[in-house]
Amino acid sequence: MTKPLASQYPAPAAKEKIIVALDVETADDAREIIAELRDTVGAFKIGSQLFTAAGPSLVRELTEAGIKIFLDLKFHDIPNTVANAAVEAARLGVWMLNVHTLGGSEMMKRTAEEVRGVCEKENLAKPLVIGVTILTSSNDATLAEVGINAKVEFEVERLATLAADCGLDGVVASPHEAEALRKAVTDPDFLIVTPGIRPRSATKDDQKRVKTVAEAIESGSDYLVIGRPVIEAADRARAVQEIIREIEATHK
Ligand code: C5P
Repeated sequence: MTKPLASQYPAPAAKEKIIVALDVETADDAREIIAELRDTVGAFKIGSQLFTAAGPSLVRELTEAGIKIFLDLKFHDIPNTVANAAVEAARLGVWMLNVHTLGGSEMMKRTAEEVRGVCEKENLAKPLVIGVTILTSSNDATLAEVGINAKVEFEVERLATLAADCGLDGVVASPHEAEALRKAVTDPDFLIVTPGIRPRSATKDDQKRVKTVAEAIESGSDYLVIGRPVIEAADRARAVQEIIREIEATHK
């Protein structure tokens, strides 16, 4: 493993690193959170729950209003279907989307190429295409159950390296995996997006393997996906300010 070279891009400012997960039931709940936080965080994540409830029209409404959206639908299908779905997400104007790396190299390469091609042709901003490796809800036993006889850490590293080789822009990874991935993937601009982050003062909710904001930044995360500690806070803007202070106090 070689050590990564220096990045050609400056690190994003603290607020740009924060992606708030809109894990809510309705479009109105999402709009309320966005109205409160749009000037203080970098982006918002729409996952399967809100997308299934509110649909692509909400995504378009938000992107047209200049909101950066991470569309977290974790596409996993045959290469043709995933590439076409990712192209439609690009047409919705999302800033970031993701696919399952377990879909394999042909699926990832085609998706990266077709998204790039359509964005050039239709003059769209190209979304970041991020890979999901092994879900944090899986462990070695879960992998064995489906016939993967490897340790989670090994599998995550292997899938992240494959994603980088296929032209993806980064991976979603737990903060526990980020440090090893930073070393394994030689491209310093390969992004690491980490959920499972808690501010120093917060509870763990159902996340089993959490890290603090400072630990995540120190281990090489570029973006932090944070849901409940922000959206369930009595004062959301204050919760975000606390996270920004924790990021700024950490030297990367
Ligand atoms: O509320 P909390 O901060 O735990 O939310 C984390 C968000 O990140 C949720 O939207 C969850 O679906 C997502 N996520 C995760 N672990 C992964 C991938 C995504 O918690 N491995």
